[in-house]
Amino acid sequence: MNADAIIIGAGACGLMCAVQAGYLGKKVIVLEKNEKPGAKILISGGGRCNYTNQFASAEQFISANPHFIKSAFTQWTVEDTIGFFETYGITGKEKTLGQLFPDDKNAKDVVAVFTSICADFGQEIRCNADVKDIEILPEGFKISYEKNGKTIILKSEKLVIATGGLPIPKMGATDFALRFARKHELKIIETAPALVPLTITGKDEEWFAQLSGNSVFCEVSNNEISFEENILFTHWGLSGPAILQISSFWRRGETVNLNLLPHQNIVSLLDDERKNNGKTLLSTLLNRIYTKKFTDALGKFLPLNKPVAALTKSEIDLIEQTIHHFKVKPAGDKGYDKAEVMRGGIDTNEISSKTLESKKIPNLFFGGECLDVTGWLGGYNFQWAWASGFVIAQNI
Ligand SMILES: Cc1cc2nc3c(=O)[nH]c(=O)nc-3n(C[C@H](O)[C@H](O)[C@H](O)COP(=O)(O)OP(=O)(O)OC[C@H]3O[C@@H](n4cnc5c(N)ncnc54)[C@H](O)[C@@H]3O)c2cc1C
Repeated sequence: MNADAIIIGAGACGLMCAVQAGYLGKKVIVLEKNEKPGAKILISGGGRCNYTNQFASAEQFISANPHFIKSAFTQWTVEDTIGFFETYGITGKEKTLGQLFPDDKNAKDVVAVFTSICADFGQEIRCNADVKDIEILPEGFKISYEKNGKTIILKSEKLVIATGGLPIPKMGATDFALRFARKHELKIIETAPALVPLTITGKDEEWFAQLSGNSVFCEVSNNEISFEENILFTHWGLSGPAILQISSFWRRGETVNLNLLPHQNIVSLLDDERKNNGKTLLSTLLNRIYTKKFTDALGKFLPLNKPVAALTKSEIDLIEQTIHHFKVKPAGDKGYDKAEVMRGGIDTNEISSKTLESKKIPNLFFGGECLDVTGWLGGYNFQWAWASGFVIAQNI
């Protein structure tokens, strides 16, 4: 045997697993397809890495089994994440909504924490190591990987698959875990891009092109859930945090509702203005709320040049509908090239929630994004990756 365990994937989960195994005196070898470890950590949060969320709980995750992550989140808490990084000189600063980023450091420093602890413990991270095959032996696993055109074989009693999800193939994302699961008849919950911009196509939506570059604070909702954050209009559709959030809950053909003024009521604003100065043009009133460009674009729907006192009941209804119930029917999403995470993955019913070991294949562990555990935007996905890496380390 080459090590106590082999970990496939030096991403957030695999690196945390290697480090935690080191604390427990276990020797692991991490195999990573990319030239360097932690590729997604490096690009996360715009290079600043939103490494956890102060409010993370099972509530902010999508999974066919919403209870699955509770055990891991009890074993490794948000406080554990904060404390771990503080020990290595990274203190968190809340940006918004509980999202923690390194205060005066960035994503590179987050990766450096892991690589330096691995070096201290002698945990080996082998890069440019593309794992091609796993053979299940009576005494453990035989792992074949390719490095510089050569096939290399390793053996270990315990194996960790932490190869992540499908987003951003050009950064090394593979379907390795899903292929393995299919081959061994582990159930998979249907996968799709999540935390992904939504596209709008067709003539009616040329309106969106005019709005390109505008960012508006909105409440975005569907029949299931709502999020309040900014949305960004682009020439091809909609992006921004609130859209990324709803995208994880959106299904093709569904309509999304945009409340363009979530904290005020446009009808009350119109009533007040009518009492104060009925001559105010609708455009003037809207310009107090939105940018001129955005107000002008609303002119496609609304009688902007009418004084508020002259608005008819049906025009007021139209204004209310447009501002508070603006409906868009996305044509699709920007796919795995632009998604931050994958929805779905290996069915958590195949895995012990306490140890993250496969129920069917003993001594095989799965963690991170390859499982059917998808967090909201805001540091939740890393919290899951760290927690699952920790739990696996206790059990290998
Ligand atoms: C642009 C972007 C920004 C993001 N920002 C944030 C953020 O700020 N906060 C947050 O919480 N989440 C963020 N995420 C999500 C977060 O990056 C992932 O949820 C997290 O990295 C998943 O961890 P993981 O260890 O499961 O997978 P990864 O971190 O993806 O690691 C998997 C590793 O396995 C390797 N691998 C795959 N196949 C093989 C193979 N066959 N052989 C060897 N190695 C292999 C890959 O190269 C990769 O390095 C972001 C994602 C993206 C794409």
